[in-house]
Amino acid sequence: MRKPMMAGNWKMNMTVAGALDLARQIYRLVGDTSVVEQLLCPPSVCLHPLKAVTDDMPFLLGAQNCHWQESGAFTGEISPPMLRGLADYVVLGHSERRQLFGETDETVNKKTHAVLAHQLNPIVCVGESLEQNERGETSSTITAQVRAALDGLNDEQVQSLVIAYEPIWAIGTGRAATAQTAGDICGLVRAILREMHGAAVAGATRVLYGGSAKPDNIGAIMEQSDIDGALIGGASLEAESYAEMVRITARVYSG
Ligand code: PEP
Repeated sequence: MRKPMMAGNWKMNMTVAGALDLARQIYRLVGDTSVVEQLLCPPSVCLHPLKAVTDDMPFLLGAQNCHWQESGAFTGEISPPMLRGLADYVVLGHSERRQLFGETDETVNKKTHAVLAHQLNPIVCVGESLEQNERGETSSTITAQVRAALDGLNDEQVQSLVIAYEPIWAIGTGRAATAQTAGDICGLVRAILREMHGAAVAGATRVLYGGSAKPDNIGAIMEQSDIDGALIGGASLEAESYAEMVRITARVYSG
């Protein structure tokens, strides 16, 4: 059985003090549930202090991006070896990186290989724009993005990564995909995994939904058999709403 994941993408929010405070608040609210994997993805400067404080809390930590090279003249970048020991996961190909910082399918693929080579787990984001959605190009866009991101990976590598389906039109807009649509597209992602790597790998790899997920809709989203969790932006910045999403997910999985 795939363990559900609630991944909070804090984006460029929070100082170190604010990040520590938010993590402590979430811990007070949720406690030690082992049913749901709780992943916090703060700005990279917060990873080290958070790691120290959350070592005895049930959180995993994720970075929001990294470079594919190990070191070199890449001012402002962070490499996979730098994240070893600080992060468990690295979010790659988020639509904000694709739209605002020139991330392409090719760089996402290079980063995915680099992250895996350093024993970190990628969370690869894919998603169609509003225009692609309206032109009926959702399936072809998602298929192309998943295939490109996973190009050259072996079965074992694919099982250790997570794919997040995040329709761009749903991110930060308050307009989430319906649970049914989100479930269908996550099902499509799983079918692509099956085609590329076989049924066992497809059955073991987690697929998340992201895009205006919140306490009100997370229950229906998590009822979908092909959805294994959520990548959460806005609602992860408030301890109570994130905690509530963890609790609801735990209920869906325990009952
Ligand atoms: C995200 O940034 O990955 C995201 C899903 O944001 P939000 O939940 O705010 O739509």
